[in-house]
Amino acid sequence: MKCVIYARVSSKEQEREGFSIPAQIKLLKRYASDNRIRILEEFQDVETAKQAGRAQFGKMLAFLKKQPDCGAILVEKTDRLYRNIKDWVALDELDLELHFVKEGQVLTKDSRSTDKFMHGIRVLMAKNYCDNLSEEVKKGLSEKAAQGKWPHRAPVGYVNDKVNHTIVPDPKKANLIKELFSKYATGNWSLEQLAALAKTSGLFSRNSQVINKAGIHRVLKNPIYYGEFIWKGKRYSGSHEAIIGKRLFNDVQAVLSGGRTPTPSSNSFAFSGLVKCGLCGCAMTAEIKKGKYVYYHCTGYRGKCGNTYVRQEALDELFADALAQIRIGTDVVEDIKSALKSSKKDQLAHREQSTKALRGRQTRLQKLIDNAYEDKLDGSITTDLWTRKSTEWQDELITVRQELAALEHASLSYFETGVRILELANSAYDSYLGRDATDKAQLLRKILSNSTFTRGTLYPTYKKPFDILAEGASFKSKRGRRDSNSRPPA
Ligand SMILES: [Zn+2]
Repeated sequence: MKCVIYARVSSKEQEREGFSIPAQIKLLKRYASDNRIRILEEFQDVETAKQAGRAQFGKMLAFLKKQPDCGAILVEKTDRLYRNIKDWVALDELDLELHFVKEGQVLTKDSRSTDKFMHGIRVLMAKNYCDNLSEEVKKGLSEKAAQGKWPHRAPVGYVNDKVNHTIVPDPKKANLIKELFSKYATGNWSLEQLAALAKTSGLFSRNSQVINKAGIHRVLKNPIYYGEFIWKGKRYSGSHEAIIGKRLFNDVQAVLSGGRTPTPSSNSFAFSGLVKCGLCGCAMTAEIKKGKYVYYHCTGYRGKCGNTYVRQEALDELFADALAQIRIGTDVVEDIKSALKSSKKDQLAHREQSTKALRGRQTRLQKLIDNAYEDKLDGSITTDLWTRKSTEWQDELITVRQELAALEHASLSYFETGVRILELANSAYDSYLGRDATDKAQLLRKILSNSTFTRGTLYPTYKKPFDILAEGASFKSKRGRRDSNSRPPA
């Protein structure tokens, strides 16, 4: 058997210390020789938080496409090989064995689907971790948010105070914002009426556009006016002056949610929007026949595509079958959990190692700056040189500090995420059976997207990473078949 080997370091610290790539290569070479696998080519990528490019990974893919006799990739660990699902798909298309040497796992085309699922989870988790890290690195803006300062252009009703880097109520518009809230809280004003009022009062958005109904809705939902704001999904307590009180805001939210009544059609026809016609791609919609039977049919032109109708009960069973495909069994869930736990350990170790390297660099930089300052004072280096070097070091010091902060904050919650996904997958079928139609649809939306129906058969599309789990278990529903010739009663 022939293979290629691939090594990657994901932070410049590891490269600086010079141990990581050679260590990976050494491990892979030993494994290859132990298993009598011939190495055709080596590929190595060095990545920094700033440069996400992976030139060698691309070259490896190109190489593999030209080498049909190459049967495997050897790599240290899952997170060395993939950065995202796209990488995974690209490799999945090549008919290769993947050897994760340190994890002791070999994935082939016909690996058991649970192996693949676990693998998929790890890919997702590795990506999650990397995303998290790079996000944390460039989070200067979030730092600002954490101090209670809105890090962006002021929303309507506020203006930016450039001196104090904060926002202050717009003297011309703040009162009008307050008026919008007060009026809406009474329940006697509609969004349209408020939009008209805003227009006549000259309330413009920051793009100088007249605020429309949607704009009013956004204003009324924005907690920034009572002193909190949401930045990148997190809620912060602002240090800026509030325009309205929290109670008024809450009153408005109550009116907003009370005004939203679910349309009867979405209630009674639970599966609308969950399934499309597999023949023409049109939506499938429901109607009631004989006053009580709910039938779903294609909305294409007069059913010209030739698809059959399906009764709600039959569709319900088809969906239940789709969920049964991802039931993996409690034993397997436990296996995967322990595998995830060990991968969490790996990432904790990575964090510790990187932190140590960064701290070392931080100390060295500080020492360089201090020494050079002494040299400048006693005249052994010129002021020019001092300025140039110290600026350089200070800049690096800032980067090092940011990276340290990033490591500290990077979330290791992938374990919890993984477990949640597994448990949802495992329990979906059972919990589906006991629910009413609306709840069923809600559960289906978590797991499926864009399923199609063709003459009695449902072709479910699973969301990631449930797709991996359903893969292999070829989906055939006998119950679906039985119903395939049914026509609705006239
Ligand atoms: Zn159709």
